[in-house]
Amino acid sequence: MAMSEHIAQPTNINLINSSFLIGTPILAATSLVYYSMNYGISWFEPVIFFFFYFASGLSITAGYHRLFSHRTHKGEWPLRLFYALFGAAAFQNSAIKWCSDHRRHHLKTDEDEDPYSVTDGFVWAHIGWVMVDQGDEIVEHVEDLQADKILAWQDRHIFLIGFLVGIVLPGLVGFALLGNIHGLLGGMIYGGFLRVVVVHHATFLINSAAHTWGTQPYSTANTSKDSPLLSFFTFGEGYHNFHHTFQADYRNGHRWYHWDPSKWLIQSASWFGLTKDLHKIPDKSIESRRMKATFERKVEGQYIESDYQEKLSDCVSQLRKGFTDLMERRKEFKQAKKSKKQQSKSSWKSMKEAHRNRIKQCKMKIAEARKEFKVLMESLKEKRSNKPVSA
Ligand SMILES: [Zn+2]
Ligand SMILES: [Zn+2]
Repeated sequence: MAMSEHIAQPTNINLINSSFLIGTPILAATSLVYYSMNYGISWFEPVIFFFFYFASGLSITAGYHRLFSHRTHKGEWPLRLFYALFGAAAFQNSAIKWCSDHRRHHLKTDEDEDPYSVTDGFVWAHIGWVMVDQGDEIVEHVEDLQADKILAWQDRHIFLIGFLVGIVLPGLVGFALLGNIHGLLGGMIYGGFLRVVVVHHATFLINSAAHTWGTQPYSTANTSKDSPLLSFFTFGEGYHNFHHTFQADYRNGHRWYHWDPSKWLIQSASWFGLTKDLHKIPDKSIESRRMKATFERKVEGQYIESDYQEKLSDCVSQLRKGFTDLMERRKEFKQAKKSKKQQSKSSWKSMKEAHRNRIKQCKMKIAEARKEFKVLMESLKEKRSNKPVSA
């Protein structure tokens, strides 16, 4: 769809969505002013805000996105029910419809069929696409979700569930905490109105900002970008270039120190048996993809002799072999530890040393592959500055 087709005409504005998206910030702002003048602010408002912010935000990112849309792991029914209830409270449609749009976004990223393609503008990708009717609503590629009784039920009663869990419940929690109208109003305003607006725009930023600003370490095939800063506001969803490249991975920030609360929730839920079969892309695939993308970026638009390509292939295969061997050696060491008790102290000591050495060898092999890749990149840089080659 071309840009011009997205310009809102009086006939194709979605009145319900538009009134909601414009109305909620106005309602939140005016009620906040009224409330603050009458009751001020204490410990209670931030507590109720953050509880509903995390519950509904994570239901979208860990639930709607990583569990339902991408099937990156399995979730037990109590967790799926929680996501269905608090996902509805985020007022972003039912999981079935949300995932239908999202799966299309991945299948057709940046193309005409992408429901929130950033190539049609930042504002369109952020909020415009929700406010304008794009013809008949298409719900497709979600048969697996339609077969889930919890999600089918949520889809049938989405607005009622959203209203009850997203507005009425925070009001009741506020009333229970303070026991008066002050608590009821505070709950509805901080846990309801204000929180809905903040979660809305945090989610929308993934479609707009995460396709506009940031780096592309893994692929330049589409507009998706990695941004640690954005991850901070979006429950870890800012590593969007990684996500578009490896959508089967339950993590978006794949390193342990990457800020990704959705990943931490999925991991910790597995300790209680609520999630299982957490899918991870192997490190060797992630790093070799990164090497290839770095190389492609460097040589873009230039004629490159085949020996450079060969050198890249050597680095990649050496790296992959290093990681495969490392996994194998670690497994062997773990196995050996199990039979530790049957060994004498001295024989175990020398055995341990041998295992550690073999592991070290693998790590050295990986480090060597990285070094060789660096040398290759340097040689390309020199080649470029000394003698630019054209096709
Ligand atoms: Zn996705
Ligand atoms: Zn995207």
